[in-house]
Amino acid sequence: MATDNLSAVLYGKNDLRLEQTPIPEIGPDEVLLRMAQVGICGSDVSYLVRGSIGDFIVKAPMILGHESAGVVAKCGKNVKHLKPGDRVAIEPGVPCRMCDYCKGGTYNLCPDVVFCATPPYHGNLCRYYKHAADFCFKLPDHVTLEEGAILEPLSVGVHACRRAGVTLGSTVLVCGAGPIGLVNLLTAKAMGATKVCITDIAENRLKVAKDMGADHTILVSSGDAEAIAKEVEKVMGGMPDITIECSGAESSIRLGIFATKSGGMMVLVGLGPSEVKIPIVNAAVREVDIRGIFRYANCYPLALDMIASGKVNVKPLITHRFKLEETLKAFETARTGAGGAVKVMISCE
Ligand code: NAD
Ligand code: ZN
Repeated sequence: MATDNLSAVLYGKNDLRLEQTPIPEIGPDEVLLRMAQVGICGSDVSYLVRGSIGDFIVKAPMILGHESAGVVAKCGKNVKHLKPGDRVAIEPGVPCRMCDYCKGGTYNLCPDVVFCATPPYHGNLCRYYKHAADFCFKLPDHVTLEEGAILEPLSVGVHACRRAGVTLGSTVLVCGAGPIGLVNLLTAKAMGATKVCITDIAENRLKVAKDMGADHTILVSSGDAEAIAKEVEKVMGGMPDITIECSGAESSIRLGIFATKSGGMMVLVGLGPSEVKIPIVNAAVREVDIRGIFRYANCYPLALDMIASGKVNVKPLITHRFKLEETLKAFETARTGAGGAVKVMISCE
């Protein structure tokens, strides 16, 4: 039996240590996983740099990581759909299954969700980790473990595009070309959007977006949302039906309202300052609906099908690869965006 469980444990602000933790014992409905690939998310970096995100504060040592895939090492006695050796994507949030939200299918809103690497719960940037078996999705042979890890951000794209009502012929503005903006671009295209325009303040991110299929890109260099909205209308040949805001920046949310066609929809994915100034009357009188999204629910199966069927290619998102032993270097790369880093992946094998 293995004994090495090297884990990336965050003790507090700027205090990330690699150390051994016990290999967990599984319950009857759980699987023990040999971790394979873990992507670094902006939230992992925020916990490292600030020690908190909003009300979530790292008060006790916490293992980071939640964009992940692994290999089943052991199954609990009730587990029927998996066997040792199966490669799986890990949906990181396990809800209570008892509350109205869980019963109604919107389990992302469950107040008692246990979500990897959201304090006080451990993540899975380690060698061995246990998880609820029904939140593990078996990967077909031709889908890589890296792609399995990318199912996590891709599911955010699926949920956002579903809430936005993206369909065949939709025209979509995506604000922000970070990993989340890029997965929204891919998903919107896969769901039939005929034109997607994407914005960013960084030229290199727009280049990646263009390579990943964006029809138009706009480099945002001023905070004049109304002027940029005019530019969006011009390059797209009309105002977009839908805006998916993925930067969280106030000026970008303002742009989303001004740019969206009357009767259209803006979905807020980006989470920036908790209060922002927006032209709400403009949205009201033009019937531009504004919706939020929180993570995802029931999105892993579609995200996996999109990859397995070749409808989306997420591989270009992964720009940097590190070993678990190099975790500090990996986080430094993700934090600084050095070398044009988009998604930084850590191998735990
Ligand atoms: P990221 O920081 O890598 O990407 C954000 C991008 O927005 C960057 O490329 C940045 O240059 C760009 N940007 C900044 N200001 C801009 C502006 N004014 N106009 C256009 N682009 C601008 O982050 P990410 O990992 O891609 O995540 C994006 C956002 O989504 C974050 O706010 C994150 O917290 C949020 N998020 C929300 C959910 C949810 O459930 N709602 C889930 C995951 C991530
Ligand atoms: Zn619940």
